Amino acid sequence: MTTEKKITDHVNDFSDYVRSFFSEFLKLQPTLHRDDVHSVFHEPAIVKYYRPTNQPWRYYLISLFKIHNETGNVWTHLIGFIVMWVAIGNLFISYDVWTERHSWPMLVFGLCCMVTTMTSTCVHLLHSKSIYHHYSLFLIDYIGVTVYGFGTGIQTFYACSDIYTYEYMKSVYLPILTLVTWINFIVLCLANVRLGNNDCDIKRKLVMIAMQLVQGIVVTLPIAARYIRCYFNDTCLVSSLYHLSTIYIFLFISAFFFGSNFPEKLFPGKCDILGQGHQIFHVISVANQMWQLHSMRLDHFYGAADHTDPDIVVMLAALLVLLLTDIMSYAFLKKLIPTSLKDKKQS
Ligand SMILES: [Zn+2]
Repeated sequence: MTTEKKITDHVNDFSDYVRSFFSEFLKLQPTLHRDDVHSVFHEPAIVKYYRPTNQPWRYYLISLFKIHNETGNVWTHLIGFIVMWVAIGNLFISYDVWTERHSWPMLVFGLCCMVTTMTSTCVHLLHSKSIYHHYSLFLIDYIGVTVYGFGTGIQTFYACSDIYTYEYMKSVYLPILTLVTWINFIVLCLANVRLGNNDCDIKRKLVMIAMQLVQGIVVTLPIAARYIRCYFNDTCLVSSLYHLSTIYIFLFISAFFFGSNFPEKLFPGKCDILGQGHQIFHVISVANQMWQLHSMRLDHFYGAADHTDPDIVVMLAALLVLLLTDIMSYAFLKKLIPTSLKDKKQS
């Protein structure tokens, strides 16, 4: 199906310049124009530098160090993974994590973020293998996406929650959070399998964003009452909750870049390597993760989490159950990938 094109020596724009600058040094692999790859791989307004399908797995692993249209997506989350790894290491320096129970939600949150960034890195790196692998790997990406939501719930409930909401929900919140996260994963997978073609791309994104909002409501519940009680308290300034408000500003901005394909839609073909909205979405997501960790430390420092009683064993057990059910569900859901696509493992 595909006809490989040699790396062009003709420099038309910044993306061409980046490729030509590194072509000798990195021994860049040939890439393809969008007209030469199947439409399932097409990204809006990304014109060139698609990797060919049907190459050995080693080819896609090595492409980590090459320059193509997924390079920015891979490295933004790989660096995010490393940054969170270092941040977790710092927790071990700042806290006695074996006895300080308020550091445990930070550890579990950081672990969830690392699952998210690592699954995303692997998916962006490997999904060009074939049409079938494109679909099946993006189902795994949703494990990471939803586990981040789970981690955010751990943050809002055990580190930043309102005292009365915590007392009211402490026996049910973690099971509800785990269940909603799993349902979110199922819906995202079904949206990808059933609506995952270019004609329905906007519809698929709307379903994905809507389900994220549902999980967003669940993770917002524990902190919502802090805003309400502060608003009606003459001695409390809502601006004192800026550390929590900033998280939502980050989320709205990242949702915009995820859903809009801005700025590449304004400059088709100019953001093929750097500047894609999805790359900006990745960077803002990682910045938000770091800010969330900072917010947990702030609330702990000022005693806003003193009423919580997190248990590392229970939190890790819930995360393990979630991951196991996600993996078992994945094994079933990938069978729903249309047979016509399964036949295209070599496409
Ligand atoms: Zn991504």
